[in-house]
Amino acid sequence: MQLVDNYQRRFQYLRLSITEQCNFQCQYCLPNGYHPNKDHKFLSLSEINNVVATFTELGVHKIRLTGGEPTLRRDFTDILSMISSYPSVKELALTTNGSRLLKNIHHWHQAGLNAINISIDSFSPHLFKLITGQDKLKEIIECVEKSLEVGIKKVKINTVLMKNMNDNLKDYLAWIKQRPVDLRFIELMETGETNEVFNRYHLAGNAIESQLIAQGWQLQPKMALSGPAKVYAHSDYQGRIGLIMPYSKDFCKSCNRLRVSSLGKLHYCLFGDAAVDLRDLLVKADQKEQLKARIFASLMSKPEKHLLHDHHVGITPNLSYIGG
Ligand code: SAM
Ligand code: SF4
Repeated sequence: MQLVDNYQRRFQYLRLSITEQCNFQCQYCLPNGYHPNKDHKFLSLSEINNVVATFTELGVHKIRLTGGEPTLRRDFTDILSMISSYPSVKELALTTNGSRLLKNIHHWHQAGLNAINISIDSFSPHLFKLITGQDKLKEIIECVEKSLEVGIKKVKINTVLMKNMNDNLKDYLAWIKQRPVDLRFIELMETGETNEVFNRYHLAGNAIESQLIAQGWQLQPKMALSGPAKVYAHSDYQGRIGLIMPYSKDFCKSCNRLRVSSLGKLHYCLFGDAAVDLRDLLVKADQKEQLKARIFASLMSKPEKHLLHDHHVGITPNLSYIGG
């Protein structure tokens, strides 16, 4: 059984949020920090196991842990070990702000983590602090170096592009010249709680793309089943630049991911109007067939595309709820 929707998009990639909690205050996500909601009980290790067991049987072979800040969970290493025990999981990835990485990356790698995206919104300490609320740039840069050193196969940097704030391409190019790292600019997306930040700072990725092309960077061919990022390479640079441009034409045509939130809800789109509650079927391991039936029954409701151009942002207040 394969997960294919009405538009012939095939899904082998699951982004799994394991907490809403976060220790940063990124302006575009949680500008006032994380405030716990006592009704929100995050998936337990055994519920996460049941999600993974079901989705791997449906052909998923890449799982990314996200949040909130996923590494704040005390059982984070156990979660990695459990997921990597599934032979069909070929890629076990993490998106993180890096704050707990330095001390733990060695154990995480041993527990099966083989791909990591670290968020760095600026290489200027001042701007980094202004955007994230944390004076930790030096430490987070060390995290990138350390991840490469321990042998993580894919190390990427995520940078959310903000107009007149962190959009000086030169700073980033200098950094990746000697480092085999993909740096991906993510266009700022509007969410329910962050429309003011969006109006003030949104910058289309084309602004960066045209500079890259003018400087001789070349668009790389898309790999089969690769996601919506456009990747550019240049022979003078070890690193590459990726662009994730959700406002560009046909962005959703190459959508290859499904999302499960830390509350056990299946989201077919980051900006959808509804989510499918899976929680009652995650309690016991023997509910897999019912779970699959629910997933299949709802898969055809995955929308063809988001409606962000009409400022229709869906039910998610900010991306710490489902992990971006
Ligand atoms: N806390 C982790 C981190 O920051 O890497 C993982 C969760 S975070 C929600 C996942 C990704 O979404 C990060 O790269 C973050 O920069 C990005 N993100 C958050 N809000 C965004 C927004 N409004 N537009 C674009 N990207 C956003
Ligand atoms: Fe936290 Fe990540 Fe959101 Fe920043 S983007 S506030 S690190 S969840």
